Amino acid sequence: MAFGQALPETSRRSFLGGLASLSALALAAPAAAALPTREERVLSFFNTHTSDRLTLPYFADGAYLPESLARLDRFLRDHRTGEEHPIDPALFDLLHDLRRATSTNRPFQVISGYRSPVTNAMLCSEGGGIAKGSLHLQGRAIDVRLADVPTPALRDAARELRRGGVGYYRRSDFVHVDTGRVRAW
Ligand SMILES: [Zn+2]
Repeated sequence: MAFGQALPETSRRSFLGGLASLSALALAAPAAAALPTREERVLSFFNTHTSDRLTLPYFADGAYLPESLARLDRFLRDHRTGEEHPIDPALFDLLHDLRRATSTNRPFQVISGYRSPVTNAMLCSEGGGIAKGSLHLQGRAIDVRLADVPTPALRDAARELRRGGVGYYRRSDFVHVDTGRVRAW
């Protein structure tokens, strides 16, 4: 039925009622997006050092899944020393949003997840722009690339999220993201 057309009183009322519930839905939508309760968040990784792969939901029904987080901690361990450290779940949410922002269908290729103090000191002494107080030491940073997204595009998507630090390493072709202060290098 066209707008502006005269409606019998009863159908006009249900038409207006329909409009009211539509706008209620529209108002509810942003809140639902910010606080998903039924959403399952899935991430997929490929470890470039060990060639291990991992795909799993880490969040479902409004809560992080402890077993998944434990598997992710193991997966993102310091591959040089074998040491594990709890990884900040906010980092997984950041990666999940990056997945959406880039529309990637491929796993995140992980260059570096957790870094033990020994490994970080070793990499520092080799140079290459490794920070002494790196957030990798706290399980709050990850270095990644995607096979189906050019790395500069991944960097831009990460910067647009404004959720922490974003570093672009052109020569090694990866992007560092962390859950620290919003900054870029
Ligand atoms: Zn990094």
